[in-house]
Parts: sequence; C-alpha cells; structure tokens
Amino acid sequence: MQHFDVLIVGGGMAGATAAVTIKKQQPDSRIAVIEAFEPKTAHHPSFDDRSLALAEQSVSYLRALGLFDPNWDFAEPITQVHVSDRGHFGKATITHDEFAVNALGYVVEVNPYGAYLHQQLSKLDIALYCPAKIAKLTQQQAQVEVLLDNGESLSGKLLVVADGAQSPTRSKLNIGFDSVAYTQGALIANVQISDKHHGQAFERFTEHGPMALLPMSSNRYSLVWCMPEQALTSLSECEESEFLTRLQAAFGYRAGMFERVGRRTSYPLVLGRVEQLVHHRCVLIGNAAHAIHPIAGQGFNLGLRDIQALAEQLQKTDRQEWGSHGFTHGYKIARESDIHRVMTLTDALVRLFSNDSRILALGRSCGLLSMSLFSQLKAPLARQLMGRTL
Ligand SMILES: Cc1cc2nc3c(=O)[nH]c(=O)nc-3n(C[C@H](O)[C@H](O)[C@H](O)COP(=O)(O)OP(=O)(O)OC[C@H]3O[C@@H](n4cnc5c(N)ncnc54)[C@H](O)[C@@H]3O)c2cc1C
Repeated sequence: MQHFDVLIVGGGMAGATAAVTIKKQQPDSRIAVIEAFEPKTAHHPSFDDRSLALAEQSVSYLRALGLFDPNWDFAEPITQVHVSDRGHFGKATITHDEFAVNALGYVVEVNPYGAYLHQQLSKLDIALYCPAKIAKLTQQQAQVEVLLDNGESLSGKLLVVADGAQSPTRSKLNIGFDSVAYTQGALIANVQISDKHHGQAFERFTEHGPMALLPMSSNRYSLVWCMPEQALTSLSECEESEFLTRLQAAFGYRAGMFERVGRRTSYPLVLGRVEQLVHHRCVLIGNAAHAIHPIAGQGFNLGLRDIQALAEQLQKTDRQEWGSHGFTHGYKIARESDIHRVMTLTDALVRLFSNDSRILALGRSCGLLSMSLFSQLKAPLARQLMGRTL
C-alpha cells in the first residue's frame, strides 16, 4: 500500500488546482490525485471547450500562488460587463475603472488551463493515478484506504472528493445529493465576431433563457446560451449559417456581426445541494460539493474558495491531525454559509430572469435601468462578479 497525507479523487479543475495549491503551500506533503480520464482526451469532462470567467478575487488568489499569468494567450481580461433584458428597456454596464481595478476578472480557456495544471502536477512531484477510479473505499480510524480499479492500494489521512457533480465517491460515502434539473440546458461554443471586443463581456436575458458572451483572444467570444432542451437540440445540430442567424437575432448587434462558430456542446443544468460537506476523514470540494446554473459564472469561483478554505485549514492544523474530526468540522464551518448564499442567489437570479410575467419584466427593466443610473446599486452586483464578499 502507498501512503499519502492527502488523496484527491478527481483531477479536473477543482481537484488538480487543489493538489497544486496544497503542494505549493506544503512542499513536503505527500499528495496523490486519482483521475478517471487522461487530460489530453478530446472530450475530457473537466477540460473541454468551455471558458470560465474567473472573478478578480480568484485571479488574485491564483496569481499569489503562481498559478495565473495575465499574459497567457488563453487568458483575456474582462474590463466591462454589459447586462440587458431582451425586449425590455433596462440595461446596465459595470466597468473596471468604476471599481479601481485593472480587470473585473479574466476569461480562461479550460482546455489549455487543464494542460497547464497537469504539467504542474508532474513538476511538483504529485503522484497521479490516471486513468484510475476508486473500486473500494474504507474509512479507518486514522486514515482512508482506497483500492483502485487497476489493483493498486493507497491510503491517506484525508480524502478530498473532487470528482464532479455526479461524484461516484460521494455516493460511496452515502452522502445524499438533492438535485433539481432546470428546464433549460446550456449550449457553449466559441464565436468569431467582426469587431474588436475591447474586453467587453455581455450578459443578456431573453424570454427563453440567459446568454453570456465572454471575451477571448483573437476577437472571439465564448458563448454560453441557456434555453429549453428542445431548442438546444435544434441549435446544436443546425447548419452554421442558420445558427449564426438565430444567434444574431437573439443577441442583436451590440457585439458586432457573428461570423463563425466552433464546435457546439450542450450541458444539462441542475441545482444540486449535498446533505453534508464532510464525512469521516473526507471533505467535498468543487462541483462534488455544489452544482449551480452557469448564469452568473460562479461555479469554479466557488470551488476555488473551497480550495482556499481547505488550504488554510491544512496550514493551521498539525499534520498528524489532518483529516481528524476537528479538521473536517473546521472546513465545514468555513464553507457552509458561502456555498448556501451563492446557490440561493444564483437560483433566484435564474428564476427571476426566466419568468415571462410582465410585472417581473418591468421590475427587471427598472432594476437594470436604476443600476446604470446609480453606481451604489451596482456595487453589490459588481462585488459578487469580482468574487468579493457582499
Ligand atoms: C456551460 C458552463 C459554463 C460555466 N461557466 C463558468 C464560469 O464562467 N465561471 C465559473 O466559475 N464557473 C463556470 N462553470 C462551472 C465550472 O465549469 C465548474 O464549476 C468546474 O468545472 C467544476 O470543476 P470540478 O473539478 O469540480 O468538476 P468537474 O469539472 O466535473 O471534474 C470532475 C473530475 O473528476 C473526474 N472523475 C469523475 N468520476 C471519477 C471517478 N470515479 N474517479 C476518478 N475521477 C473521476 C472527471 O474525469 C473530472 O476530471 C460553468 C459550467 C458550465 C456547464
């Protein structure tokens, strides 16, 4: 049996970032990551064609760890966010100089970022078991033991569960997961535009669901377009020219003309709450701990705050006590309220903007309009966007 201080199951965005963060802060710790898929797999579940909007707070944290460089060609600053409601008069703009920051956040392409994270795993001498899954998990008094499906056995003082929203490990631990499917799914694709984007991101609410355009390198936008399942199938499969026409009609011309679209991928959307964030010698992070709608681009930012809390807990705890009851309880206390707050806010936003009621639409328009007129109303939205506490 191979012995480690920390075992991490899931080497996606959350698991790989957690491993690298812990190792950078605790260079002599023994860390192992168990991941089911090779990172270079074309349709890797965590490192696909998606781009993520990283809040300013997330970028600062990653930068301090040496895990982010604004000069990467797969990272683009967001200098302005334009929010509008299709068919209604309200709109609001949030700009970086109103909040005295260089950027409200950055858009990062997860495929190259995933490759970068996995390079860091080998550079930092973190053991990677890949492709591998946990076949059997046993929680002993002082450690967790796992038998992998390739026959190898590992043990750790702490098991970090980071194997995504469907988390097979969470099921092995018998932790309940209360999930509600939204009636919408999300289509993502990279689109080429005619004009320069100047770092402007857009969030637009339509009668079918919200859409977001996040600026990328080479005058491209990463599109996240939420809509009912039926529309999703037809838009995923139609000809490029028809797709561009329908996108232009739904979004309008404020970002210029849409000229090309790359591979289109669709995702089901769920709101998923876990019954408990911790178990004996185990903690849940990332999507294994919370699944939310991508409307406000908060999922990974929230996961990164899980990682930050976990790393802080490891730093202030004697190594012999890693994974103890006091340790897991401390992590739970540190994370519970932030996760609850972001899940509740995001779900409320989806419901408010998915509702066709004329009264609600008027309220939204007035809300967005007053936000553009009174900068103090923008502050809470902008703080949420930048990942700062409200
Ligand atoms: C359309 C869309 C847009 C989004 N936009 C944003 C955004 O702008 N900003 C933001 O912050 N968030 C955004 N998110 C959320 C973000 O993508 C997720 O929060 C993040 O990717 C979750 O990472 P994770 O590592 O927790 O889970 P996952 O990405 O699901 O990774 C789980 C990993 O575990 C592995 N795994 C699974 N089962 C096993 C097993 N049995 N054994 C071993 N390994 C296993 C998988 O292969 C995978 O590598 C978006 C999500 C979607 C769907």
